[in-house]
Amino acid sequence: MSQSADLLDCLVVGAGPAGLTSAVYLARFRRRLRLVDAGESRVQWIPRTRNVLGFPDGIGGTALLARMREHAACYGIEPWAARVASLARDDEGIFEAAMEGSGAIVRARTVILCTGATDIPPDIEGLDAGLRCGNVRYCPVCDGFETQHQRVAVLGREEHGLREALFVAGFDNEVTWLSMGTRQDVDSAAGERLAACGVRVANGQPRRIACSPGEGIAVHMEDGASLNFDVLYPALGQRHASALATALGARAGEDGQLEVDAHQRTAVPGLWAAGDVAQGLNQINVAAGQAAIAATSVHNFLGQP
Ligand SMILES: Cc1cc2nc3c(=O)[nH]c(=O)nc-3n(C[C@H](O)[C@H](O)[C@H](O)COP(=O)(O)OP(=O)(O)OC[C@H]3O[C@@H](n4cnc5c(N)ncnc54)[C@H](O)[C@@H]3O)c2cc1C
Repeated sequence: MSQSADLLDCLVVGAGPAGLTSAVYLARFRRRLRLVDAGESRVQWIPRTRNVLGFPDGIGGTALLARMREHAACYGIEPWAARVASLARDDEGIFEAAMEGSGAIVRARTVILCTGATDIPPDIEGLDAGLRCGNVRYCPVCDGFETQHQRVAVLGREEHGLREALFVAGFDNEVTWLSMGTRQDVDSAAGERLAACGVRVANGQPRRIACSPGEGIAVHMEDGASLNFDVLYPALGQRHASALATALGARAGEDGQLEVDAHQRTAVPGLWAAGDVAQGLNQINVAAGQAAIAATSVHNFLGQP
């Protein structure tokens, strides 16, 4: 790879809150950048977020994303609809990203990876309809507040499911942990914490859910039982979209979330990560904060524009 006029200061991969914030900061630092996006931001699944400051009445995910894109457009940034299929780094530290399908190549001195994560869905009939109704939710940190004094089910295995059941119980809910038969895998101290918080445990396998707006949700179990709730939280973890970075030698946890330092740098020189794909709490405010740190670090690394 040789240096040439088409060489960018920075390639930002992913245009959710992290990627759009990175792009706005870099543009305001007068950097040459490109923002590539596959169009699957988790923000699109948010019925109404109420913990993003500046929107006291809340705002729908698609509307929020549109406003963020509008903000980026003020600086001439339009996300390029494409998916980065591979990322390489040459001996001089220049990155080469190849787009899926077209094979188009983008070359950059630095990369900020903002590719996010996806929730692992349970294999249950009726799940998408439940999400559309608002009865199935994925993020108690985001909307646990809205569940207070309701019948809430948490569907998840082992420690992860148990921790989320305890978290949701903290909102004065009547909580049932649908443990998928893994209750025996948690120690007795954890069992005692569940009991102390009044969390019930249902051990069988849920097979199908049925819901209609405003009427709660019925969970039909494999053994024929049917359980009724207001809200169901699947808690099977997430897959972090970090393969482009780990292929270059970046370090990640078991769930794929990338290890980063205080400046959002991965272990690969020239490669930063921000948002859900990077270590930290998976939240919009955190994604934006990490992106601000990453973009400023990239700017300082690159030297004078
Ligand atoms: C149902 C639900 C409700 C939520 N509610 C809230 C809430 O109320 N408050 C809150 O703070 N958070 C909420 N969240 C979490 C929030 O959506 C995420 O924390 C946030 O979207 C993370 O932003 P991000 O930019 O890191 O990733 P994302 O927004 O997921 O964006 C990542 C982008 O990268 C793109 N991408 C991935 N791989 C590639 C590739 N190879 N090439 C090009 N592009 C790629 C994806 O297509 C996507 O557009 C909620 C999430 C869900 C699912």
